[in-house]
Amino acid sequence: MSHSTDIRENISLHPFNTFHIDSTARFFTEISRIEHARALIESGKLSEVPFLLLGGGSNLLFTGNFKGIVVHIKNKGISIIEQAKDTVLVKVSAGENWHEFVLWCVNQGFGGLENLSLIPGNVGSCPIQNIGAYGVEVKDSFHSLEAIDLQTGELHVYASADCNFGYRDSIFKHELKGKVAIWSVTFLLKSNPQVHLEYGAIRQELAVMGIENPGIADVSQAVCNIRQSKLPDPRLLGNAGSFFKNPTVDQKFADKLLESFPRLVFYPLGEEKVKLAAGWLIEQCGWKGFREGDAGVHESQALVLVNYGNATGSNILTLAHRVQNSVYERFGVKLEMEVNVI
Ligand SMILES: Cc1cc2nc3c(=O)[nH]c(=O)nc-3n(C[C@H](O)[C@H](O)[C@H](O)COP(=O)(O)OP(=O)(O)OC[C@H]3O[C@@H](n4cnc5c(N)ncnc54)[C@H](O)[C@@H]3O)c2cc1C
Repeated sequence: MSHSTDIRENISLHPFNTFHIDSTARFFTEISRIEHARALIESGKLSEVPFLLLGGGSNLLFTGNFKGIVVHIKNKGISIIEQAKDTVLVKVSAGENWHEFVLWCVNQGFGGLENLSLIPGNVGSCPIQNIGAYGVEVKDSFHSLEAIDLQTGELHVYASADCNFGYRDSIFKHELKGKVAIWSVTFLLKSNPQVHLEYGAIRQELAVMGIENPGIADVSQAVCNIRQSKLPDPRLLGNAGSFFKNPTVDQKFADKLLESFPRLVFYPLGEEKVKLAAGWLIEQCGWKGFREGDAGVHESQALVLVNYGNATGSNILTLAHRVQNSVYERFGVKLEMEVNVI
């Protein structure tokens, strides 16, 4: 049986990126079955023109029209593959929406991902930058993933140790970038879960909700409440979440900074390193609430760059560079972008 791929031309990417940048893809195709992926590979298209794998488009900034082919990964399915006394292995297709999957886990009573509620995007992208929030990262519940080799079409399994997970980082941003398409992710979840409340605001929010002995559904709801009150909703205001990573520096460097900036916000990482709050650094440089044309820095969360309507990707990128330069001049700290600039 042949499985040809349906390749469309000159497709607007506006609905496919949460920054709402109005650019166009020269070619666009959707992949919902592995046969489609293999037919695309066999067609040779991926070596003829540049390609971009697309999930929910919530961690991307298009800075112009995309001259190659955008491959939208849309395979669906969630299955329990093994259940032990206290744990469960759940395999999820890359095209599933992340938050809907988290809610599915919460409804089943499977714990581990509830602190990651309401993060936009798809399951297939979650290992790429090892998504994290409220004291938890995806690697904490990650078991393995399947990825398609984009040269051969073969499926390979990557265990946690193969993925080189770090802070907003993995092998899929480096050696394997553009080489594989993540096709499914398997999670090791707890059927008798403990909740993680260490991250300050969660306890506070649960108290506001009047909950004394929270379960995972309460934690999920508390996280949703906090996120909704702090972060701009991309449906209403274009953005891709944190634009920059929180920079990691040596403790000695942080001590020096503290002499000049006693209110510096930082988190210790072991004994020798600290993570600086990028949002605080940006705010100190006066960017919070800045707007030029339709590109801006969010008024209550300086780490988030926003598109008020008709900003181009270049407008946003120019602003990002200005923010980086001023933070470097003031603090001597280089901010690295978290968002993928295309
Ligand atoms: C309001 C808001 C809040 C956010 N909060 C957080 C947060 O708290 N924590 C956090 O970590 N992130 C956060 N993010 C960032 C974003 O949600 C995550 O990075 C998410 O995992 C991106 O998923 P996506 O499907 O939208 O990826 P996309 O933007 O579609 O793609 C991201 C990158 O992954 C590649 N890619 C996509 N799918 C595949 C695949 N199947 N195989 C191989 N490569 C692929 C793309 O080519 C691209 O390079 C936030 C974003 C927004 C808009």
